[in-house]
Amino acid sequence: MSTYGIDLGTTYSCIARLDSNGNPEVIRNNEDDSNTVASVVFFENENNVVVGQAAKENVETDGDRVVQFVKREIGKRDSRVYEFDGKTYTPVEISALILTRLKNLVEAQGGTIEDVVITVPAYFGLEERSATKQAGELAGLNVLSLINEPTAAALSYCARQFQEDRTILVYDLGGGTFDVTVVKMSMAQNASGNDVQKITVLATGGDDRLGGKDWDDRLYNHILHACCDDNGLTPEEIEAETRQDIRSKVEEAKRKLSKKQSAKVRIDVNGSRTEITVTRKDFENMTSDIVAKAMNFVDATLEKVPAEAIDTVLLVGGSTYMPMIKNAVEAKFPGKVQQHDPDQAVAKGAAIYASMLVEEVGGVSSEGGETSGDETAHAEQLTSKFTVEDQTPRSFGPGVVDTTGAKHKYVLENFIKIGEKMPAVFTKTYYPLEDNQERVLLRAFENRSTDDTLIPCVDEDGNPQATDPAHYVKLLGELVVNLPPNTSRDTPIKVTFKVDASGVHVEAVNTKTNETFETFLRTESDIDVERSAVHQLRISSD
Ligand code: ADP
Ligand code: MG
Repeated sequence: MSTYGIDLGTTYSCIARLDSNGNPEVIRNNEDDSNTVASVVFFENENNVVVGQAAKENVETDGDRVVQFVKREIGKRDSRVYEFDGKTYTPVEISALILTRLKNLVEAQGGTIEDVVITVPAYFGLEERSATKQAGELAGLNVLSLINEPTAAALSYCARQFQEDRTILVYDLGGGTFDVTVVKMSMAQNASGNDVQKITVLATGGDDRLGGKDWDDRLYNHILHACCDDNGLTPEEIEAETRQDIRSKVEEAKRKLSKKQSAKVRIDVNGSRTEITVTRKDFENMTSDIVAKAMNFVDATLEKVPAEAIDTVLLVGGSTYMPMIKNAVEAKFPGKVQQHDPDQAVAKGAAIYASMLVEEVGGVSSEGGETSGDETAHAEQLTSKFTVEDQTPRSFGPGVVDTTGAKHKYVLENFIKIGEKMPAVFTKTYYPLEDNQERVLLRAFENRSTDDTLIPCVDEDGNPQATDPAHYVKLLGELVVNLPPNTSRDTPIKVTFKVDASGVHVEAVNTKTNETFETFLRTESDIDVERSAVHQLRISSD
């Protein structure tokens, strides 16, 4: 049994493994004659749920029964629950259906699959990561680990050519998201003293609402207006069926324009056939502002790492097949642009990483008879050359009371800042708010700010509070720290946060009694304790 890497994408997903020569290969989706599977689920009826291109073809005609872009919802608080034929489906369950389809691709070709690595965007917080893992488990997969998409893309690039000390900007323009990540590849020594290639994430940026769909929308509007002009109609006079016809032809036309200078689209406009020709030039003119917008996100990310430091720009994501993207990036980074299998690189990198992990833990999946000694040796050769060092996707810290001012303030102290090397550890000593306090409700928050202190999203009583949405402050959970009777307010309580790829570990030690309380936070825990403002820690000892 071999291990697999899965790119669970917003619009398209892909699965890969290492072939008998230790090179990454994608498992073909023969049904759709494609290397990828559309991340679209169609709930046709009680007995039939369709995933992939066939599901996508129902978006226009039966849109109410189709679920798309579920990755935008996974792990989000208040994410919607879908209902079809009397059954409900959470985003995790929908994602599990997509993963099951990928699993079936392997099984249909006679393979067996269990151990996998699934990729996630670098900006995913803890809950999104944990929900992704859950989806994998629900699909009957053993999720060895998650890996950030740009890191996977860089791994796949490294597998092609080894170069020492290179800083790579991964430009990932997919169907609905745009991710900019700067990774550094350098040589380091692993625990056994061997030279390995180390991949470190230096900066992340982008927009989770910018992607190929924006280009589709522009082309849709262009064709709609051309249909109006040709038939002397106003957009309001265009029938719903015609709009559907345009919608379903837009993506194909866009792909054609990546290869050819023009594309013909035939539309049935309110019953009469109309042929529209779109040239690549037209298409580029009508979307030049989106290309520029994407470039602004690159510039913003480069505020953290100087442009001169970038050695290579790696184009990833299906939308980078559009020549206008490559041209724009080339203009900014002349001679530095690389593009290899942009819609498969992430899955391939994940497959490499999956093999690395199996090797690390001593061959978890080696009991299967399918892997030959040769194959293993090759995979080992490839994978023993890398080590991955990721950065924290968010900032993390506890909510505590600042008693220094005239009025008590409940604040979030950011222990670990976004972008720190993982595992990241931070410890600070606090004190009970009052004498004889029975317990402390130590709340852990995540956010996207790099400020030392913030106002969190709940007050010290645990009531939700308005907060600056730009910082995405999210309550992850609470650690209940019980204090013995007669605890004085000058008892030092040592609080430690440790963040690694699997989650946040929170620990509190009562230094008078040496009692330790700890919890591992992945999602908000439901804690049923009486809430009170006094159940808090304060910052200073006076
Ligand atoms: P995801 O966003 O799910 O990670 P991908 O990286 O596979 O997905 O990108 C999907 C997007 O790429 C879609 O918008 C699709 O239309 C677009 N795309 C794929 N191939 C081409 C192509 N040849 N030309 C233009 N766009 C393409
Ligand atoms: Mg992607």
